[in-house]
Amino acid sequence: MIPVIQDRHTFDSELQRAERFGMKGPDAQDILWLRMRICLVPVNPPKGKSSTPFWNSENIRYDVVRWNAADWQVFCDRYQALSTEHWNGNFLLIPSPRIRKRPDGELRTVFCGFTMDVVKDASKAHHVIPVVKLPENAPKFRSDSELYCDRDVWRELLEGEVQSPNGPVQAAWKRLTIHHEVGHLLGLPHPAAGRVKDPNQKEAYGSTLLERMGTMGSGPVQKLYYATPWQDRLARHTQTLASDWMPTWAGDAEKKGREFVVKAG
Ligand SMILES: [Zn+2]
Repeated sequence: MIPVIQDRHTFDSELQRAERFGMKGPDAQDILWLRMRICLVPVNPPKGKSSTPFWNSENIRYDVVRWNAADWQVFCDRYQALSTEHWNGNFLLIPSPRIRKRPDGELRTVFCGFTMDVVKDASKAHHVIPVVKLPENAPKFRSDSELYCDRDVWRELLEGEVQSPNGPVQAAWKRLTIHHEVGHLLGLPHPAAGRVKDPNQKEAYGSTLLERMGTMGSGPVQKLYYATPWQDRLARHTQTLASDWMPTWAGDAEKKGREFVVKAG
């Protein structure tokens, strides 16, 4: 078993055995922590100027404004707290009978943890991400996993028509961009990325209401298949196959984000 894996370009991970917490017996669980360190960099206009032109990934021009220290601190704090809250403690991974017994100790159910640290030193970060501040009247800004804007840590109301088994329905929900972008940093794709030409086109965010409602669509809720980053890393820690680990919900994580569905159609 490998207790710690450091991966400069994704995230580090640590497998903590239940003995460490004095846990024994059939209900004892190990913990797999995925640990991410992000260096956020404020994008500011040059000295003496109040705004500066900036082009995002869609090549749309925005006039971005200066960050003040208080707003920047709020952004960093919310980024850290909201991404940890959403991605920590959602899943359990249960080992298949095939791999349970082994010479270096029995494999148990693993609790999936996540920690996010915002660090100042870029050389210690897994990702360095610039963040722009938009003037209040700016149009919608499309962020991506390598570029954020100040609005990404505030909930945004999305509404429209989506497909359901019974035909098109009207739906509305409040999502947080940052949950989605941190999902990409964990390695998760858009739900329909494999079925469309461009993994970033609109249709990649899901063709059904269920897909769209997920964090990796454009919604607020967790999905059980978002456990794959933990499954894949756990396979490396334990030298098993990712498919040897079956994901289930931890506690009532299945409900996470459901309160932000305003109208389910
Ligand atoms: Zn995306």
